[in-house]
Amino acid sequence: MTEQANPTIRAREVSKRFGNTVALDGFSLDVWKGGLLTLLGPSGCGKTTALRIIAGFDRPDSGSVDLNGTPVVSPGLYTPPERRSVGMVFQDYALFPHMTVEQNIAYGLGKDRRHRIAEALELVGLSAVAKRHPHELSGGQQQRVALARAIAPEPEVILFDEPFSNLDATLRDRVRRELRSILTNADATAVFVTHDQEEALAMSDVVAVMREGRVLQAAPPDLLYRRPADPWTAAFIGDADFLDGHASGGQVATAVGVFPTDLTGRVSVMIRPEAVRIDPDPAGAARVLDREYYGHDQLVTVALENGSIVRSRMGPWPVLDVATPVTISIGETSIFPVPGDPS
Ligand code: ADP
Repeated sequence: MTEQANPTIRAREVSKRFGNTVALDGFSLDVWKGGLLTLLGPSGCGKTTALRIIAGFDRPDSGSVDLNGTPVVSPGLYTPPERRSVGMVFQDYALFPHMTVEQNIAYGLGKDRRHRIAEALELVGLSAVAKRHPHELSGGQQQRVALARAIAPEPEVILFDEPFSNLDATLRDRVRRELRSILTNADATAVFVTHDQEEALAMSDVVAVMREGRVLQAAPPDLLYRRPADPWTAAFIGDADFLDGHASGGQVATAVGVFPTDLTGRVSVMIRPEAVRIDPDPAGAARVLDREYYGHDQLVTVALENGSIVRSRMGPWPVLDVATPVTISIGETSIFPVPGDPS
């Protein structure tokens, strides 16, 4: 028996078209209470549409959404946004410019809940600027007002559509850390949208990778990185090189070694640069082709004897000159079948 039978959000086979554009195409997702889940995918893959349907601002053509086990969207059913206990923080914050900070937060809050204004302001650390107008605040402060407004009604779910895109890189890092602790204190379940892989991996409990209107894989960041479901996901969330091989008898032989696999036939072996160790060796058959030096680490590109290429992310030293002969050893890999392989 599980402690909690229903996820906070459950979407099943949600599809949505705008004219001829398919925005969502069988979108399914579970979001469990208390966590921070990020929808990550390239621009146009349907992330914002998914958020808007969960919030109730758009209606899907088909599929269903449940919140805490209660259907809010299904064939013939549509619960409006104000009856969903869902808050949303928009990309541009959508603050009313002519209202003060506290008036912005009070907007839409029932009279009996006005005490929540001060609480929400305190939670985001903005009590001192309650009487100011949005134009008198920095970008980071405006972002926190938008967050306070979403938190004030104590929704069970808060949705964020690219909330950091208007902040510069330094502020972004700080606000991201603050936000995590604010959300923990508010005991809210959060869903973020971003197209930034590093941001998604750094801040999320679970990352759901989207492509062409559907979720390809939802998993904790480390699992997603180590065990991507398919080559596209592997390459989308980090650096990866792929070597072809033919698997049989429980293994596949490649230009960099033999790896165990249950697959048979043509396969693609995915290798992350962190899993590649290179050692200078005068007898080595591989050669350093290129290197990018970053200080904290370096990315060394190596040409194998057969012309294939793998990259190694290694510490800042030793620094290997181009053309240095090296031997290669490989740690963890993921092995994928090659679709359409007849054998
Ligand atoms: P993402 O947030 O991943 O960038 P969106 O959900 O905004 O993607 O959009 C998915 C697709 O649907 C895109 O091709 C977009 O142009 C289209 N789309 C989204 N909203 C509308 C709309 N209101 N009218 C027409 N097309 C839309």
